[in-house]
Amino acid sequence: MNLAHLFLRIARRDPDAPAVAVGAKTLWTYAELVARAAHLAAGLVDRLGCADGDRIAIVMENLPEYIEIELASWWAGLAIVPINAKLHPKELAWILANAEPRVCFASPKLARAVVEGGVPAGCRLIEVRSKDYEELFAAEPHAMRAVEPDRLAWLFYTSGTTGRPKGAMITHRNLRAMTYAYHMDVDAVAPRSALLHAAPLSHGSGCYVSPHAAVGSCHVVPESGGFDEAEVLELCRSWQRVHMFAAPTMVKRIVRAIEAGGPEPTGLATIIYGGAPMYLADLQRAHEVLGFRLAQLYGQGESPMCITALSKREHEAAAKAGRNDILQSAGTPQVVCEVIVADEEGRPLPPGEVGEVLVRGDSVVPGYWRNPEATRATMGSGWLRTGDLGSFDAAGYLTLKDRSKDLVISGGANIYPREVEEVLLTHPKVKEVSVIGLPDPEWGEKVVACVVAEPGTRAEELDAHCLAHIARFKRPKEYVFLDALPKSAYGKILKRELRARLLAERGEDQR
Ligand code: AMP
Repeated sequence: MNLAHLFLRIARRDPDAPAVAVGAKTLWTYAELVARAAHLAAGLVDRLGCADGDRIAIVMENLPEYIEIELASWWAGLAIVPINAKLHPKELAWILANAEPRVCFASPKLARAVVEGGVPAGCRLIEVRSKDYEELFAAEPHAMRAVEPDRLAWLFYTSGTTGRPKGAMITHRNLRAMTYAYHMDVDAVAPRSALLHAAPLSHGSGCYVSPHAAVGSCHVVPESGGFDEAEVLELCRSWQRVHMFAAPTMVKRIVRAIEAGGPEPTGLATIIYGGAPMYLADLQRAHEVLGFRLAQLYGQGESPMCITALSKREHEAAAKAGRNDILQSAGTPQVVCEVIVADEEGRPLPPGEVGEVLVRGDSVVPGYWRNPEATRATMGSGWLRTGDLGSFDAAGYLTLKDRSKDLVISGGANIYPREVEEVLLTHPKVKEVSVIGLPDPEWGEKVVACVVAEPGTRAEELDAHCLAHIARFKRPKEYVFLDALPKSAYGKILKRELRARLLAERGEDQR
């Protein structure tokens, strides 16, 4: 079954349901969106010569056309390659050369960056809203192409903080599994809800498109094309039953904006957070300010949105029962995949022991685009190696520790940075923190806390705070006070960059 059926089903059942909006204003109903996609699909095939399996790159900030290009591509049996709008032209060019798309759609704002980086031979660059773009809709509409379940639907370039990005090959089967799991495990969405795309459609928010299309939600693209907490709060008053994905840093900003006197988000139904750890102190504050409107997802490009989840109901029950252990967990495995914690040989570990999180099931991608080596290393055993460390409790709740590469080994002891970060964040003067390991002649590695704190904060008071809450050997041996932490375009703290920066300042080589 072609994923585009999800949209077609709603266009038949509820044709007038709003499908795409900009800000508070509806642009297309489901009937209109599907009709446009059928025309655009024809344009792609008849006018631009696209054939089964070809790739369609998208280099755009969040614009309404994102949704119709995705749908038209699937409709025509083609795969989308959404590319992070904040990349450097050279990085864009690298992904385009690797994906070899037949067509690249760019927004008026980003078309120049694509040209600057270089458009690969055989790829036609089309600026949306241009005459060339509009002319594609003049073709006679096509019927939806049938596709086999393992047909490529989305080439998802991992954010990869080091090395070249890899294209995870997400299939129609993977996205369908994700769609069904979403409604069972994450958030049961009512028909005609609103999905607010404040996070990038190329990544976090883009994954929510199909589960929401399946029930006829309206895709609301903010006028700013991105995340602005004041705009989000306004839109949560203009729309009813608003659902949105937000990275933990975005949740924090929304919470702060309300605390600072921002409007109550009366129409907000759910914020789904994930993509990076949410610290307990931040979650508790979010509960106080927003009520029980948060759900958590743990996934990665290689098993999109599907590893574990903690629903709103579970957040509420855990908070009321004082079960901080559950609130700090990433929830339980989703219905479409098996999840284990394993040792280095891939042997399952019992509850309580920390190992790498492995996943298999219908949500897991078959491999990386044109990269058999990475495919073998990551999925060769039949299980997806996530590179995340975690442990299960007896009831099946998975607590993530850190990326295996971020673990600090000091004096032979394993120290999980997240545990130290959680403690430091409960200090009232600490705003942000990232704990890393740096080489140390005596200990092998030492724990270093990089802190964004109120002016005048002293290392001694933070040390005393750690001493009161965690084992002595886990305490940072050094504090580095910074104005800001380096973050990726998706708001994830770049630990490896932080580490490299500190090493360079100290004249030490990176290991
Ligand atoms: P990406 O493939 O870019 O979406 O990044 C996926 C990675 O983000 C995962 O492997 C985890 O390291 C991290 N991540 C995703 N969801 C969560 C979560 N709920 N809690 C903590 N880390 C997460």
